[in-house]
Formats: sequence, C-alpha cells, structure tokens
Amino acid sequence: MPQIDWTPEFKRNTTVEFDRLKLKVGERARIVCMEKPTFTFVHTLRGPKIVDGRANKVIKKRKDGTEFADWDMDFVGRPQCLGDHGIIMDTGMDPKNCPVCARAQESEEMSAPERRFAMNIIKYNTKADGTPVTPFGCSAQVWTFTEGIYNKLYAIAQEYGGLVGHDLILGPCEPPETYQKFPITGGARDLWTSDDKIKETVVETFKNNKRETADVETACGRRVELRWLKEDIEKIRNRWRTAHGEIEASPTAKQDVDALKGELDSLLAPPPVKVESEVGAPVEERVPETATKTVVKDDTDGEKREPTGGSEPDDFSKLLVNLNL
Ligand SMILES: [Zn+2]
Repeated sequence: MPQIDWTPEFKRNTTVEFDRLKLKVGERARIVCMEKPTFTFVHTLRGPKIVDGRANKVIKKRKDGTEFADWDMDFVGRPQCLGDHGIIMDTGMDPKNCPVCARAQESEEMSAPERRFAMNIIKYNTKADGTPVTPFGCSAQVWTFTEGIYNKLYAIAQEYGGLVGHDLILGPCEPPETYQKFPITGGARDLWTSDDKIKETVVETFKNNKRETADVETACGRRVELRWLKEDIEKIRNRWRTAHGEIEASPTAKQDVDALKGELDSLLAPPPVKVESEVGAPVEERVPETATKTVVKDDTDGEKREPTGGSEPDDFSKLLVNLNL
C-alpha cells in the first residue's frame, strides 16, 4: 500500500462519536422516546474471516440442535446504501446507483439493503433492577434498531397513540451482549412527568445533548464515498476467493490492519440482532445460527392507557410546547 497523507480525502467516516444505547447482559433500562425515528437503507457487509491467509469453517448449531459446518464470518462494515430511496422502496435495490446493490444482484457475497432506524432517547439512570437512582439523573443517547424492533415499537405506538414523550422499559438483556436481545414494554407511567425537578433535568439534558437528525441518520450506518464501497466489495470478493482456494493470500501487514479495522468497526457498529417479523418469518441479519430470536413482548405493565387519538408531535420540544411548560 502506498503511504497516505493526513488530508480529508483519506479520512473514513466512523460512528465513534455516538453515545449509543447499549445494554449489558442482565441489565434493565428505562428510556423515554424523544422524537420520531429516522431511517436509512444500509448494507451489512460480511466476509469470511481470514486467519494466517486462510478462511476456516466452524461448527454452527441450528435452532433444532443439529450441527453444520459454515464459514467463520467477519463483520466488515455497515455503510449506507447509495441507492435512491424511491427505487429501493419499489424494487428492493438500486443497482444503477449503488455498487453494493449491483454486486448483490450478481453474487450472494452481498445482500439487498435493509432499513435501519435511529432516534434520540433519554435513558434514566437506574439501578440494576431498573428502578431510578436518587438523586435523579439521565443521559441523552441514540438508539439504532432493526425492522423487527420497529414493528414491535409500532405495536406499542398504536396502544399509546405515539411514542414521543413515553417511557419504554427494556430488558433484561440476554447473553451474548453483542446481540442486544431484550424484551420491550411500554411504561405504565412516564417518569419524567412525575416531578418538576425530574422534568427539568430531562428537558435540559435533551436540549443540550440531543443529536441533529443528519447525525442520527449517520448512526444507522456509515455514509461513505463510492470508492470506499468499491474497496470493501473488492476486499470481500478477495476473501471469498481465498476461502474457495482461487487465490492464495499470505498474512501481510495490510491484512492485519484490515482485520483490526474490521474488529474496530464491529465494536463501533450497532450489534446484529436477530428478530422476527410480524408474520413470524425470521428476518435474517446474518448472525450465527446459534443465536436465538429476540423476544419482544407487546404486553404492557397491565395498565393500559387510552390512545391519545390525535397525531403525535415529531419531537419532544413540540410535545413540550403542547404541554405549555
Ligand atoms: Zn445499495
């Protein structure tokens, strides 16, 4: 590889600057939704893991307990699709404008773009069991989620007439932590409305720390230049060729850097979650077969609230205006 300069054209966007919602194993969380979600189309890029110049197969387990050998896969990245949203909505992909869509059309190495959602939330500081700590505290975070979680939130939103300003109770998070599997229920009450001081803390925390919509969209997936996408496509193509014995790869410094970068990306990326769609068909996000499905409960705490009827405000500030605070 040639040496490069410390100039903007060599800088790749990362999503490191986000304070993302992430639960530890066993953790329960209570959050309040601060706005309607935004979404964008992303491609989840994976390729066989190359160790010492070779790809390896590992034994994976199906849900019925039977075993099979499959390639040990690596997370390479989750870039935004460069396709036109209208075209993707109509036909599922846009091979004319996006090289990953084009590659997905000719090869199973890539898959069609998927919607990924993100929104600003406030997470209350709670004890391990989910009860708020004293004195009250909270933090502004960005929650990114998949189509399946969107469907579950949709169901809760129907119950409440929207989610902005409403509490959600998450967890406990099941192992392994990387899959972020946890039940989601609507809160029986909205904690931030319970006390003027708490309300003020939530409002101030949101006002001073919320991310702008363009930033929130970046949390769904990296916004990358065409040439970086092409480079990733080529990298994954070469990994498959190595796996199939078509080319011989030797462990080089570049591969080590690639592997390290891949690991960093997967640390920074929102973890893959396997979820079920409304019709019960698994929405495959290329997670190991051993992963169990996300359980998202629709039942609330038993205390149903009347749907508010009218349309919900786009974000929290409009909600506050409506409340005449
Ligand atoms: Zn695409």
